[in-house]
Amino acid sequence: MQTSNNKILEVNAMKVHFPIHLGVLGKGKTLFIKAVDGVSFFLEKGETLGLVGESGCGKSTTARGVLQLYRPTEGQVFFQGKDLCLEKGDALRRMRQYMQMIFQDPYASLDPRMTVKEIIGEPMKVHGIPEKKRDRYERVLELMKLVGLNPTDVHRYPHEFSGGQRQRIGIARALAVRPELIVCDEPVSALDVSIQAQVINLLEDLREQFNLSYLFISHDLSVVKHISHRVSVMYLGIMVELAEKNELFAKPLHPYTQALLSSIPVPDPVAEGKRTSIALEGEIPSPIFPPPGCRFHPRCKRKEKICSESTPVWKEAAPGHFVACHLIG
Ligand code: SF4
Repeated sequence: MQTSNNKILEVNAMKVHFPIHLGVLGKGKTLFIKAVDGVSFFLEKGETLGLVGESGCGKSTTARGVLQLYRPTEGQVFFQGKDLCLEKGDALRRMRQYMQMIFQDPYASLDPRMTVKEIIGEPMKVHGIPEKKRDRYERVLELMKLVGLNPTDVHRYPHEFSGGQRQRIGIARALAVRPELIVCDEPVSALDVSIQAQVINLLEDLREQFNLSYLFISHDLSVVKHISHRVSVMYLGIMVELAEKNELFAKPLHPYTQALLSSIPVPDPVAEGKRTSIALEGEIPSPIFPPPGCRFHPRCKRKEKICSESTPVWKEAAPGHFVACHLIG
């Protein structure tokens, strides 16, 4: 990982809200699902930032907001020095070449009517690189080798491959246009545990080889711990804690992070016997009407009076370790 003046991505106070129109019975009112409600973070070249949190906390919407697949309602997303929220049309399409995505479900994300050659070749065709068809074909074969697929399978269809191999096709497709940033949205959660490690190791090797930056989304904390340099914890559309991974796993400060981490089983049987899991009670509240003050207060066992009255400030509790909780500082 390189130094902090080597940022590839900077997100400032990004919000992604979705309107819901209530119709006549709702007196024509419009409510907003505040899926992402003001997140700020950066990503360095060659770095992996893990995004964790329960499902529905806004991880995937954050990623799609960064890539402008959902246009942010407010805020800025700087990539290669340009605010993507202000870009549109061809300019945005050109920048998308450098930001690719690997999806969760390798079964659903590959078109079953296309061959591997067409799937991996498609982004190159869209962006016109390389210009010649023959060169594109050569690059498809090269990419297949790179991700551990047999180039002789180039004319086969997705259903002829295993889950792990399909995810390798998805990775080759993402790499085809030489991106700098890849959003990995739960890339291994649909795979068998034995295959997960192989795909994670492949992603690690590729990041090192091409100095890629990953925004890595997962609900699996062990996977995130393995692959990330820094980890950010999301809850109900906001970030509640962000730190270098060893610091976060050793000294979690936010009660929500502490509860999440306490649920990870430990391989050592003695340590596992001593582990106390902090139960998270209740459901995540509605992102349409998030609780006032600290959003976690209805589920927090350490809440105080101030927690329901005032929103905790995002503060740096230790160098590079940020948290939003009234108990800290
Ligand atoms: Fe719990 Fe209060 Fe901290 Fe929120 S601010 S996490 S309710 S202690």
